Amino acid sequence: MIVSFSPPLFKQRYQFVVEFVQRIKPKKVVDLGCNDCALLKKLKFHHEIELLVGVDINGAVLKDGMYGLAPLPFNYLQPSFSSLNIQLYQGSVTQKDARLRGFDLVTSIELIEHLQPADVSRFGEVVFGYMTPVSVIVSTPNSEFNPLFRGLKGFRHSDHKFEWTRAEFRCWALKVCGEYGYEVQFTGVGQPPPGMLETFGFCSQIAVFKRIRRNDARAQLRDDVGDLFPYTLLYNVDYPSLNDANLLEKVLVAEVLCQTKRLRWGWTGEMAGERDEGLTFCQTDGEKETEVKESQTGDEDGCGEGGHAVGWRDRGRCGGQEKMESWSETRAPEDEEEFGMNGEGLKESYRQDRCVRVPLARLWSCCPRIRALSGSPSHLRRLLLNSRLIRLTEDGAAVLVDDEEQDEEVGGDDWEDTGVEEENRATDLSAMAKK
Ligand code: SAM
Repeated sequence: MIVSFSPPLFKQRYQFVVEFVQRIKPKKVVDLGCNDCALLKKLKFHHEIELLVGVDINGAVLKDGMYGLAPLPFNYLQPSFSSLNIQLYQGSVTQKDARLRGFDLVTSIELIEHLQPADVSRFGEVVFGYMTPVSVIVSTPNSEFNPLFRGLKGFRHSDHKFEWTRAEFRCWALKVCGEYGYEVQFTGVGQPPPGMLETFGFCSQIAVFKRIRRNDARAQLRDDVGDLFPYTLLYNVDYPSLNDANLLEKVLVAEVLCQTKRLRWGWTGEMAGERDEGLTFCQTDGEKETEVKESQTGDEDGCGEGGHAVGWRDRGRCGGQEKMESWSETRAPEDEEEFGMNGEGLKESYRQDRCVRVPLARLWSCCPRIRALSGSPSHLRRLLLNSRLIRLTEDGAAVLVDDEEQDEEVGGDDWEDTGVEEENRATDLSAMAKK
């Protein structure tokens, strides 16, 4: 009989783990026998995971696979709020390493059958007795399925030291549970032909373990004495996160500069009688797009996330005063209060000497990304007060932008120092590319 799987069996195993991760949302995950890191590459996209570790005895395959774990340009351009650290270790699952303790989930996909039988109980002791994760997923071939593979003689792979029947797998798993305080459920992936599940079982059998009690204190104490670190760390990478020191501030300041520039262009252009049909504001972070208009100006300045009209809905009206009224129709009264402004204040001239005043309330109201990054009006003001790239009015209610075209100055040394300019430009490019 020819058995084939769609999707391929290995993908079904990974998908099983991915769905488990989506359900239980572990923060710390280690994949034992991770080989070329294929499963880790899928798991790194799950934002609930903060620490993702791979272990394999074969350093060469780890090194081959590890480059696929590096952050992508996108991760720098659009850092997420969550943080992620990925580590790869060369080491054997028969050895205890203190860095692998306290995980939420341990996966061991098609690994155990590569261990010498004598090492299998050692594996149980290390994983369940020493690492004591909350959950463990172990998958291994089901030897009862093998007759369905035409021409298969012996094991499925030359490196397999054994292949268990369902009863043998069950026996090992239940023994582990009794010894180390876990409960287990059995399932699998890779369906046999219809009507044959009871006879042959799944092609890959899977046990999902859940910890029901902790190791007793004495055993814990014994393990703690002289923690060992026999594994070799081959790879360690931190993904950029908005929680990193200063990164959130930098991204916020870049966004504010970008949006103030956009607003200033719109206002000064319209004061001069130019009608900019394309002037729009950014709207990001999953907010529903409304009145989306490709902004020619935005494309050229490379600014923002691509325009989504939020503020000025009446495109026909031109002129500063009318614009301010138009704005005051769309802002929320609470925003005004939070910024210590009133309707009158907003109607005051938004020119000051040779500067344009962009009220923080305005930025807060029309740019969801600024709201998402700062969290509250007071936090927005505090962050901007601390920035040497932003000039606020004395009352701290508005950003002052030069009335003249001085973009080169804005993008001067400070930007290069922070490295944000490149990020910001590239953010814009990637946002445009998404359209
Ligand atoms: N888990 C991966 C997957 O599902 O694609 C790879 C499975 S591969 C069949 C088995 C892996 O276990 C190999 O990469 C091998 O190097 C690793 N391995 C074998 N013995 C090991 C040990 N004692 N400790 C750690 N890894 C081991």
